[in-house]
Amino acid sequence: MYGIFSYDIASPRVGYKHGRQILDLEVVGLLGYFDDLGIDPTVFTKPVLNDFIALGKPAHQRIRQHLKELLNDETIAFRHVHDQAFIDESRVQMHLPVRIGNYTDFYAGIHHAENVGRMFRPNADPLLPNYRHLPVAYHGRASSIVVSGTPIRRPVGQFLNADNKPTFGPSQALDFELELGLVIGKSNALGESIAIDEAEDYIFGVTLFNDWSARDIQRWEYQPLGPFLGKNFASSLSAWVVPFEDLEPFRINGPQQEPTPLPYLQTTQPSHFDLELEVIMQPVGYEQIVISRTNARYLYWSFAQMIVHHTVGGCNLQIGDILATGTISGTDSGSYGSLLELSQNGTRPLHLNTHETRTFLNDGDTVLLRGGGFSDGIRVDLGDVAGTVLPS
Ligand code: MN
Repeated sequence: MYGIFSYDIASPRVGYKHGRQILDLEVVGLLGYFDDLGIDPTVFTKPVLNDFIALGKPAHQRIRQHLKELLNDETIAFRHVHDQAFIDESRVQMHLPVRIGNYTDFYAGIHHAENVGRMFRPNADPLLPNYRHLPVAYHGRASSIVVSGTPIRRPVGQFLNADNKPTFGPSQALDFELELGLVIGKSNALGESIAIDEAEDYIFGVTLFNDWSARDIQRWEYQPLGPFLGKNFASSLSAWVVPFEDLEPFRINGPQQEPTPLPYLQTTQPSHFDLELEVIMQPVGYEQIVISRTNARYLYWSFAQMIVHHTVGGCNLQIGDILATGTISGTDSGSYGSLLELSQNGTRPLHLNTHETRTFLNDGDTVLLRGGGFSDGIRVDLGDVAGTVLPS
């Protein structure tokens, strides 16, 4: 996993996470270990991954192969000679890994979409007529995406009170959304769409993503143009980005898409991923509690389909853009990716432990999203994304 870290007097630079150790790639570059790879080592001295990402996939593959060789060579040399290149993760401060130009949030978790549809529009079909024809999304706010660990201040805003009167104050329905975030690794020119078979070439890596949501504000404002202040106060991104190629062992077929999507969205290879995901809550003074376990396989639309649909009209993606999947929920109540669903719209408090129940988040609550792939002895850790709610 790649990320941006600093420590002591060392300014933010690119690191490669290896267990609890971080390999300082600026130092590795200064020592000359990238000289034979034909890449410019100054990309590792930057405070964001964008220039490193721009090297492209062939360069990334050479670098990763080289790093694996350095890290696997236990008998010698590298670690012992260059112990200053390794920093324990407890010593570092992490930074937002990419300079994010644009952020788009999809709505590709079909069970989440059905659950929300049932709650917000109880007398209608849970899914709107377009849902199975195109990956629905909205353009979000890049400036308020923060790195994991950044506290989240409860937003104030306008919503309907118990008497259905517009009122102003701290949100009474602050929620999380369990999502994956794609870090875009390649730009397309304005006016040029991306074909489905090339779409994955545009993914640098994957993160965990928490799309914090104020449900009361959202519910009042969202029609007709979609989410605005209910979402734009903050979103949290993992500090570490997992290279997309690491997900290869977990590739699976997605759900049957019925009706068949239009040709531009049709995939010819399995393009979903079997990645286990979980939501952990920690109220002040208590242990961590797992409140949901789900899987990325519940996404109706694949990453590739999201990229294709995003660009089909000529929209240009740029290196460092974030495309988030939308909330990922499974089919049963232990696998929902938001409190909105877990508490059935606030009507059924969720029991965290013998003392604490929640409908929505309290001040002081910490939410931690974790994930990984595990199959046939192969394991990829997606890391985590955490945030603690501060009073408004
Ligand atoms: Mn979302």
